[in-house]
Amino acid sequence: TFDTLMIGGGPAGAAAAVYAARKGIRTGVAAERFGGQVLDTLGIENLISVPRTEGPKLAAALEEHVKEYEVDIMNLQQAVSLVPATQPGGEHEVAFESGARLKARTLVLATGARWREMGVPGEAEYRNKGVAYCPHCDGPLFKGKRVAVIGGGNSGVEAAIDLAGIVGHVTLLEFMDEMRADAVLQKKLRSLPNVEIILGARTTEVNGDGKRVDGLTYEERATGELRRVDLEGVFVQIGLVPNTEWLQESPIELSERGEIVVDNHGMTSIPGIFAAGDVTTVPYKQIVIAMGEGSKAALGAFDYLIRQ
Ligand code: FAD
Repeated sequence: TFDTLMIGGGPAGAAAAVYAARKGIRTGVAAERFGGQVLDTLGIENLISVPRTEGPKLAAALEEHVKEYEVDIMNLQQAVSLVPATQPGGEHEVAFESGARLKARTLVLATGARWREMGVPGEAEYRNKGVAYCPHCDGPLFKGKRVAVIGGGNSGVEAAIDLAGIVGHVTLLEFMDEMRADAVLQKKLRSLPNVEIILGARTTEVNGDGKRVDGLTYEERATGELRRVDLEGVFVQIGLVPNTEWLQESPIELSERGEIVVDNHGMTSIPGIFAAGDVTTVPYKQIVIAMGEGSKAALGAFDYLIRQ
């Protein structure tokens, strides 16, 4: 039995493990893929105090730091269900695809999220070669260039406003005939001189020269005609999906978007079960934020334990 068990080994789970282990409590990390989204990232330039690093390098550093402590790391373990303790202070149980089951007095759920993809030709091929998902992360790489933002929800319109201040030109494409973003954001977007908005547009392909993105093709839904936009970057902003499918059957409260609802201490609706990082309702999904939230959740778990 663990005192605290992290489910997920991205920045949030790793930070939680370090904080918990430093309290001298029995700590474990079970993760499908230790490192998380960071493994899929090229350059990282906004992890404060580390001006520039690369994803795989940061993932290795996370693991190295966790291994400085007595932490049981169980990699390649996919959690499939969770049964909370039946009484306060009791043990929670997590079942894994491998058939393994682990018990812990507190849990930190840090299973992260994934970007929703368009699923069109060229998207996967040009990922990190012009196709991007995070304007805060990759916006500066497109300084002065032409980019498209796919999606007219709040995140798409925010991204377009943000990017318009950095890049040369932004084309926002929205599938429906109107944008879903808040009116104030739409108004701001329409006031910008270097932004074009195309409604009723279904992106059909990301084009490239074999090395990098050089355009995008969309179908004008009203006419069925295919049109092409020349550009250097495509930011896909059609949603971030939290990895909470495995909690659907559990009593843990999820938001409308499927994110785990947490309080100021990172505790979920179930006493003794905490959550941190991209999988929660905490806004702005970033590495430095996930690390902070993971640390906070571990301290919350420790606080909970000493009160039992
Ligand atoms: P994740 O990193 O998603 O980690 C989740 C962990 O949970 C993984 O170990 C995963 O394998 C595991 N897991 C998932 N489901 C299960 C399950 N059922 N059972 C067990 N384990 C499970 N942020 C920045 O700050 N700067 C950047 O430059 C930057 N660039 C990015 C570039 C890309 C391409 C992407 C995709 C993201 C980028 N981000 C960046 C965002 C950043 O990676 C995330 O905010 C951060 O990784 C979130 O950390 P996390 O620990 O909450 O989740």
